[in-house]
Amino acid sequence: CGVIGYVGSNATPDFFFRGLERLEYRGYDSSGIAMINSDGVFIERAEGKLKNLKPKLAYLPEYAKIGMGHTRWATHGKPSEENAHPHRSENIILLHNGIIENYKPLKEFLISQGYQFQSETDTEVAAHLLNYEFKQNSHIKNPLERMKKSLYSLVSKIRGAFAFGILCTDVPDTLFAVKYGSPVLLGLGEGENYMASGLTALVDHTCNVIFMDDNEIAYVTANNIEIVDFSGNPAESHVVEVEWQG
Ligand code: GLU
Repeated sequence: CGVIGYVGSNATPDFFFRGLERLEYRGYDSSGIAMINSDGVFIERAEGKLKNLKPKLAYLPEYAKIGMGHTRWATHGKPSEENAHPHRSENIILLHNGIIENYKPLKEFLISQGYQFQSETDTEVAAHLLNYEFKQNSHIKNPLERMKKSLYSLVSKIRGAFAFGILCTDVPDTLFAVKYGSPVLLGLGEGENYMASGLTALVDHTCNVIFMDDNEIAYVTANNIEIVDFSGNPAESHVVEVEWQG
């Protein structure tokens, strides 16, 4: 339901937490945060209100260069810690706003390929399917190019509405944002960039934003944002300056 993402020099667990608080007004039933640093991947999730996530912030790294947070409004699977996002499939960490309509046949296919599901969500299908596509593309040696190719395959196979925030441990300097049907905006900072599902999450951080269009994927690093369509062709994007009230 709510998404906040960051790539830059330093983000704290508190940064993601406060971003999620700013999006609370949309309603949610569980929450989670993922951060990657040189020690590995850290994911903390909690059922219920954000105050249930708060004590778990202590298990996240003090600082990281990349990470993302989510508040979930359950559509498939009850509100629970297991069903809270982000979901992980080995090198892929993924969170989602929206609904994947054709998750059932995809789930059956992935189970036949040996994938084990930890949750009841439609979203976990996207995490495993992206991991599956990444493995199919092992001939592509550059990990960013391999991720790009895998993402184009993913979006060609899923139906529904999706705003994805994705991290990949093989490309730890890039935040991947995918938009179809659910809102995604990107915030431009100095040596840092942001992703969010709503403008309020970016208050205090930046006035310069890009509203992504449907059928777009953004490759977001600390110093660059590249936006392409679902086939990888460059997309036109406009930076908008927003004025914060008060
Ligand atoms: N359909 C997903 C789920 O039930 C995402 C819900 C949301 O938009 O928060 O986990």
